Parts: sequence; structure tokens; C-alpha cells
Amino acid sequence: MSARNARPAHDDDVPSGELVRLQAPVGQGEAMARWIALARRGRLPHGFLVTGPRGSGKSTAMAWFAAALLCPSDLDTEAPCGVCRTCSQVANHSHADVHVLELARDQAEKKMWGKERSFYAITVDQVRRAQETLQRHAVLGRARVLCIEDADSLSTEAQNALLKTLEEPGQATFLLLEAVQPDRLLPTVHSRLQRLALLPLPEPMLRTHLQHRIPQHAARFDAAVRVGRGSLGACMLACTEQVVQVHDLVLELLREHDRLRPLAMARAVLAGHRERHEQLDAARTFLWLLRSEVAAARDALAVDAAGTYVGPPAEPWTTWIERTLEAERDLELQINPDQVLVACLVQFVR
Ligand SMILES: [Zn+2]
Repeated sequence: MSARNARPAHDDDVPSGELVRLQAPVGQGEAMARWIALARRGRLPHGFLVTGPRGSGKSTAMAWFAAALLCPSDLDTEAPCGVCRTCSQVANHSHADVHVLELARDQAEKKMWGKERSFYAITVDQVRRAQETLQRHAVLGRARVLCIEDADSLSTEAQNALLKTLEEPGQATFLLLEAVQPDRLLPTVHSRLQRLALLPLPEPMLRTHLQHRIPQHAARFDAAVRVGRGSLGACMLACTEQVVQVHDLVLELLREHDRLRPLAMARAVLAGHRERHEQLDAARTFLWLLRSEVAAARDALAVDAAGTYVGPPAEPWTTWIERTLEAERDLELQINPDQVLVACLVQFVR
């Protein structure tokens, strides 16, 4: 049986000629530097959890940790060298000692990896396969690493299965997990993990990096920084064409919410997306942008307020944020994206 889910990823994941370089996480300061230095000595705790909001650089951090565990450079004692063959393989998901467990992300992957992968949960079967692979797989280099992306999507059964590996990880074996909502992990799992929360980046740092990476989208930076809320990845995402389209709908909603037609708005958000996972993605993006814009509006109000603002009881922002969060939870419960959006948007009319 092939280890489809706990794949040692292969070179064919990345089209040849498009190798990416390993990137160091930005703006993460002392705490991360200390853990990375421990990883260089092979003394990272065997279960390690990186947390942070969407786009905050969790995947970048995970790759940096994996490279820190594996990079053979003796000259680089405090961080991985970032340029050797090992570091490059880690960055391109092609290192034989790094196994990745993740949600199905798109239709192509779903076909490639089999039907048992879900868009909603990492299943117990996926975890068991990963464990078999880990046991079978000899350590080729300095360590072997199991990366679990979206660990807050591990089913309860999957988490219970994972406990075995967390309790007896085996020689030079490290589990790196990342999650947006770590409180969805079982306390028994949580207690066996060391945790690093990524820091939000200050606005000037975000702008500097955006200017450096995507200068052609400078006109979008104000909006991107507003919804990105300290996460560089989220800011970059906010500059992509698809997200800009959804963002325009969000702004329209907030400008004219008293004239909002929930059904029409939900249709506009999902327009052009026929596959369920595409609809799910569009709905998630819409709710994320909506919540971020509402939060930014509320924050701006609080700042203006100094001394004068007393908080009228009719202030809608907090309620709206709660409604949006509820809708985001409903999406994860596999309720239809159009139903979730309509039910949420109805609350904005009034
Ligand atoms: Zn290296």
C-alpha cells in the first residue's frame, strides 16, 4: 500500500525550473529564534504547534523548523542555512524525511490522493497511514519530520490515534503542527505539544514587505493592510484578483447594507464557482473579508472615541462580527455555502 496521505512529497510537486528558496519567517523575534536554535541541536520538543491567523506565515514557519532539524550545515548553528540541497528540498516539499498530512486543497489533489480525503477534516485513516510510513521509513538524515497542516481539522478519532505517536515518537522523530484554532485540539493532544504563537507584524513592516514582493499592486496596499490585520500572507492574498472581486462585494455591502438583498449578494459571491470546494473557498474568503472590514471599522471608532465616544447601544459592529464568526463555523459543519451566506447576510439588513 502506498502512503498516499503521508506522502514523502516528490519533485514532481513543483514544475521543474520553478524551485522555490527556503524563506525565513519575518518579524518573529526572540521566541522563534530560541526554538529554531534548539531545533538545530536536535533538541526541539517532539510535538510542536505553531499557531496564528490565516496568512500569518505558519507554513513558512513549519518549513523553517523542518529545515532547522534537517539542514546539515555545521556552520549554521542558530538557523538553517537556507541554500543547501536539504533546505531547498524542504522548501519544495521533496525531502524524503519530511511527511506532510493535510486537508485536500483542490480537485486535482483529491483525484490524485483518493476519495477518502475530505475538505473538512483530516481523517483517522490519514493519520494511521502517516504512522505506518513513519515506522517503516528509516531516518535518512538527521531527523524525520511529520508536518500536520490545519491540525485543527483533525477529527477527534484522528487526534486520538495521533496520541500514540506523540507519546512515543521514536528516535529523532518530530511532529510539527499548525493551526488557526488550537482550542479545537483535544486537551490530551494539547498537553503534549509545545506551542509558538506567531506575532502579528506592525503596519510599516507589512508595507515594506508588500512593496518589496508585489510592487505592482501598490494601489491595493491600504485595503490589504486593513483586512490583513498583521498577517503578511493575508495582505498578499488580499491583492490577488479573485479576492479583490469578493472584497468589492464586501465594501458594497457595508456601504449600502440597508439596501442589501441577501440572496442576490450570496449569489454574487458564489458566481462562477460550481464545485463545492470552490464555493466553500469563496464563502470563506467573503466572510473573512467581511469580518476584517467590520473589525477595522470598530477599531477606528474606538480610536476616534478617545474621550468623546461613549458607545451607543445600537453600535452594530460587535454583533456583526459575532454573526460572521457563526457563519464561518457553520461552513465547517458542512452546511451549504449559499445557505450559510444568506442566513448571515439577513442579519445585516436592518
Ligand atoms: Zn541548509
